[in-house]
Amino acid sequence: MLRKILTCLCMLLVLTCAATVSAKPAELTGINAFDLDNETLRIEISYRGGKLFDDNVSIDESSGIVRVDMENTLPGRISRASGAQIQDDAKNFVEKVLVNETAARHTRIQIFLADSPDAVNLSLEPADSSEKKDARVVLDVKKVYVEPDPNANFSPYEIPNRSGRHVIVIDPGHGGSDAGAIGPTGVTEKSVSLAVSLKAQQLLTAKGYNVVMTRTTDVDVAAPGVPDGVELQARVDKAPPNAEIFISVHCNAFSNGNANGMETFHAPTAVQGKRLATLLNEELERLGGLNNRGVKGARFYVMTHSKCAASLIELGFITNPREEQLLASSDYQYKLAQAITNAVNRYFSQGGLD
Ligand SMILES: [Zn+2]
Repeated sequence: MLRKILTCLCMLLVLTCAATVSAKPAELTGINAFDLDNETLRIEISYRGGKLFDDNVSIDESSGIVRVDMENTLPGRISRASGAQIQDDAKNFVEKVLVNETAARHTRIQIFLADSPDAVNLSLEPADSSEKKDARVVLDVKKVYVEPDPNANFSPYEIPNRSGRHVIVIDPGHGGSDAGAIGPTGVTEKSVSLAVSLKAQQLLTAKGYNVVMTRTTDVDVAAPGVPDGVELQARVDKAPPNAEIFISVHCNAFSNGNANGMETFHAPTAVQGKRLATLLNEELERLGGLNNRGVKGARFYVMTHSKCAASLIELGFITNPREEQLLASSDYQYKLAQAITNAVNRYFSQGGLD
């Protein structure tokens, strides 16, 4: 069932200029979808120029398609650009976003979701100059809570390999035809993920681990241009049957350059994956020193398809100028590699598994 909550946070305009301001159409400047928490997807539709009021915006949801109709708007550049920015953490829930100018000064945005939501809440937010955010139409999409499957927690591969050295898979995100996210001065996510992963490989190997890399050079693991699922499955398939840990290394990106910090992920019901993501998070916070965005459950392909404990880590925001410079620096990359190594050591020394 759809609940609509319309909250207008706009200040009342001075009456004398209200008529002219409201008549001016708002031009859309961006759409950004991200996970606010494990239960809520947030979609922000930014605009500039005119001002929108409660009467201008309506939403409707059926069969997992959220339709947002916005009067007195121009689709602006988002109709010509690729449309919405869907952050990694929201990609498993948002399938696509379409923007259409359905009539003069009338924009329709259709958000295609993997499942019908429990509720969609709508609010209008004013521009925030301190965060350099335009005025926004904000949709909070409440996901349906799924009871975790207690049998999904363990797999035979989560039993440590007692006969020999522990087998660790390191997956440097992106590569080859896929640069991943790109920072303001052109640093690519694929180069940072590879540099940190190779340093981690070095440190872990020195500690006696058997390290399997999904790639060690700037290549696509499956082949250039294949569908995402094929590329990601090729990475999962690099793990030998006795692999105990799979760590996928990424950098975050956001339309707003102020977004910052590190976060780590695990598949929602994976107990060992959560323990691994928590240890990685603690060590990255301690050695990397960035704002800690937390340990989060998400259904990223490499985590839900790996047969061992798996975590995807976002080292920092490559779109943030300060963090882009840190992520590109060899010294900082070594700190992150050391953090990964410490977390792996703690994974095997804690919890009575070994
Ligand atoms: Zn990535």
